Amino acid sequence: MSKHVTHWIGGRPAAGEARRRGDIYNPATGKVAGTVDFAGRAEVDAAVAAAEDAFPGWRDTPLSKRVAVLFRFRELLKENAGELARLISAEHGKVVSDAAGEVQRGLEVVEFACGIPHLLKGGYSENVSTGVDAYSILQPLGVVAGVSPFNFPAMVPMWMFPVAIACGNTFVLKPSEKDPSASVRIAELWAEAGLPDGVFNVVHGDKEAVDGLLEHEDVKAVSFVGSTPIAQYIYEGAARSGKRVQALGGAKNHMVVLPDADLDLAADAAVSAGFGSAGERCMAISAVVAIDTIADDLLERIRERVEGLRVGPGDDDRSEMGPLVTRAHRDKVASYLESGVREGASLPIDGRVHPVLGGGGDGFWLGPSLLDHVSPEMACYTDEIFGPVLSMLRVPSYESALELINANPYGNGTAIFTNDGGAARRFQNEVEVGMVGINVPIPVPMAYYSFGGWKKSLFGDSHAHGMEGVHFYTRTKAVTSRWLDPSHGGVNLGFPTSG
Ligand code: NAD
Repeated sequence: MSKHVTHWIGGRPAAGEARRRGDIYNPATGKVAGTVDFAGRAEVDAAVAAAEDAFPGWRDTPLSKRVAVLFRFRELLKENAGELARLISAEHGKVVSDAAGEVQRGLEVVEFACGIPHLLKGGYSENVSTGVDAYSILQPLGVVAGVSPFNFPAMVPMWMFPVAIACGNTFVLKPSEKDPSASVRIAELWAEAGLPDGVFNVVHGDKEAVDGLLEHEDVKAVSFVGSTPIAQYIYEGAARSGKRVQALGGAKNHMVVLPDADLDLAADAAVSAGFGSAGERCMAISAVVAIDTIADDLLERIRERVEGLRVGPGDDDRSEMGPLVTRAHRDKVASYLESGVREGASLPIDGRVHPVLGGGGDGFWLGPSLLDHVSPEMACYTDEIFGPVLSMLRVPSYESALELINANPYGNGTAIFTNDGGAARRFQNEVEVGMVGINVPIPVPMAYYSFGGWKKSLFGDSHAHGMEGVHFYTRTKAVTSRWLDPSHGGVNLGFPTSG
């Protein structure tokens, strides 16, 4: 049965004018599974108006009551995690257990946000001048918007809205049009948790909806996660209209393997982090940078592991890796195998011939692949592939590995595999990347730290969640106060200083 997904505005589904719609695919079959309404200005205006109406009441709701809603939302998320994971898998293609993992990581941000009373404490200084006290308070911004990518339809929005809402803001989410259902189910869970109508809204669509949010004067801040060109567009557009903005972009994540590393551990890590979620993770390992002396050995260990990987539909319990999200994306990813070979790389592991459980039919399949002898000017290295393709680069030394990573325009995640603590410590100090793993291939920070890259992987200066999230979604007010006592008096035109 074909499904139809629509917006969520003011606490209920809202079809609006629905002038345009997009198709939702089942990537495992290649068939259209439903449609999603695309918002125009009217729907965006309605969502922002609902959020604006809800803001004064939510801002003034006592912290204890806000947190009570968050705790209930957390319980409901836990109870419905399995259903959410199946919804995500059906539209994205990733295997259900992987989708459950992303729900869990989002849930951890909700748990972080449950501690908001502690996180929102300002400072207080008594007697900064005679009879004068000074203090700071953190206040919400108003209506804030989030625009999220297809690859984590639950987790990435949950990097944003739990903290934003806990801080007292109201929220409009524009999720990816490729897998929109999870966001609507999340909106229903918020309603069930007792969140007042209009505090959390969802508008679906594409550029038109995003531009509507960027240009709306009542939207005070925009959080974006997606590809680098769009991140830059969002950053510039939001800044032009005077909004606070954080825009997380694409990635090219390198994994350095030094000769003293445990090569079995390194091979396990390369395969898990390169091919999990079919490589459609912003923290996926894309480039394996191996010191010459161990490169052949490492390649053999990777090949052994890849041969046994089970590729198949996301809802088949046996599958370890699902299809790619769309046919166009699958074809683009596969084109890097051809261009890599044309430009001089070898292709020891070719995912186009990897078997698919059940045969695959017309689904968007591409098995795990590895290009070897890749060099930095090849398109498979300069572009973010965002699929199940590892590129192996062979280098003579630690210094050349570091130079390669630091010359790359992206700076999202990286990892080093070594048993030498000194080398690892030097790497964490010298590498120009925002998130670093030491014998950990996907170093996604916990909810109470902040997530974000450097260079072309982040536009703006705030990372997501953790204390940087709290600061992004609040503005600080500094208050200087004096309660008059009978001894006070006298005009003084001098500049106010303490004393
Ligand atoms: P995308 O940039 O195509 O889309 C992201 C969002 O922007 C979607 O909601 C989409 O509808 C919207 N959008 C697309 N084109 C637009 C335009 N021209 N104007 C305005 N809005 C537009 O990204 P994607 O393909 O959905 O996701 C994959 C990308 O996201 C990869 O590059 C990946 O690295 C990146 N990503 C980054 C992080 C991170 O934390 N840095 C996390 C997840 C994904």
